[in-house]
Amino acid sequence: MQIADRISRIQPSITLEMTAKAAELRSQGVDVINLSVGEPDFDTPDNIKEAAYGAIKTGLTKYTAGAGTPDLKNAIITKLERDNNLQFQANNIIVSCGAKHSLYNACQVLFQKNDEVIIFNPYWVSFPDFVSITGAKPIFVGTNADKQYEPNFDELEKALSKNTKGIIINSPSNPTGGVWSNEAIQRTLDIAKQKKLWVFSDECYEQLTYDSSFTSLQNFDLNNTQILTFQSCSKTYSMTGWRIGYTAGNPEVIKAMAKLQSQSTSCPNSIAQAAATEALAGDQSSVLKMKNKFKKRRDFIIESLNSIDGIECEMPGGTFYAFPSFEGLIKQNKIKNVSDFCFKLLKEKSVVSVPGKSFGSDNNIRFSDAISSKRINLAIQRMKELLK
Ligand code: PLP
Repeated sequence: MQIADRISRIQPSITLEMTAKAAELRSQGVDVINLSVGEPDFDTPDNIKEAAYGAIKTGLTKYTAGAGTPDLKNAIITKLERDNNLQFQANNIIVSCGAKHSLYNACQVLFQKNDEVIIFNPYWVSFPDFVSITGAKPIFVGTNADKQYEPNFDELEKALSKNTKGIIINSPSNPTGGVWSNEAIQRTLDIAKQKKLWVFSDECYEQLTYDSSFTSLQNFDLNNTQILTFQSCSKTYSMTGWRIGYTAGNPEVIKAMAKLQSQSTSCPNSIAQAAATEALAGDQSSVLKMKNKFKKRRDFIIESLNSIDGIECEMPGGTFYAFPSFEGLIKQNKIKNVSDFCFKLLKEKSVVSVPGKSFGSDNNIRFSDAISSKRINLAIQRMKELLK
């Protein structure tokens, strides 16, 4: 069978694979501790669920406008003004089936063969594939782990070419949790503007910063019409399964994304859109409650990881991920390599994690702290036993 070439240019999502592996083991009765999850462990707040029940009862069960319902677009506009100090109109907004879909669509409409797109390493697993599938080439630029994974600017300057078309920024970052300083963002934006690059700002974790308040990237250059802002209901409202994300920015790009979407998914799910309208416009108290819990867990997991000789982990400024380096353990010959260790941790101790290789970083492992501190503690104990 001849599968089209574009599929060989991409990899299956490793994080979803690890989640499936954990579910499989659990179904066999194994007490699995899953530190690979990319989603909050909290339930979707009740007011949001009620809005979905209401939508079903009142018959909001049909196709909607392809780029999102007017109600949800209005809620997004209100949200962007309330939380991010940004003013947009309906033609600047498109709702998609999760921010993953938003980012995929935007890459499809802006990038093609011979283009190059800058991605900072470590990166979210999907960024290179979003770019590669368009025929464009991802160009990786290193970052400084001890500075919240801000760019190595010398490398960035060297990576730019006449073919560079875009740059993807993800602060707070998955997998590192790094939150860039205002200076680093401004400097990156200045470089991008000079080269007339499209700037993607993936802000899916915007509500999860712990040591500084979040500023949406567009605020650093309000007149730059080449910045696209991507946000999501997934992490903020614990709505990963509802699949609602959105893009705000240049109306021409939004229109092109809507055209593509109209010939692929038609529209996002109507019931999820009603729920997302309540999420964004309704009571926000659950957001802070979840954030406070994540902060406590972050402090706990980072302290626990750093208590193990040979593991080093910077304090991430945001998200619910820790991305420790295992270089020390490799140097001490206590582990062969990170992938081997992750495999043993799963096989012998039933702890699921994600090897850093999939994020472009061979010596790190991504642990999610989106489970209770008690379970995190148990996972750390199991890891210590394995290292003995
Ligand atoms: N961007 C980043 C950095 C993510 O980590 C994720 C999900 O893990 C997404 C985008 C996509 O989120 P969703 O499609 O659930 O909105």
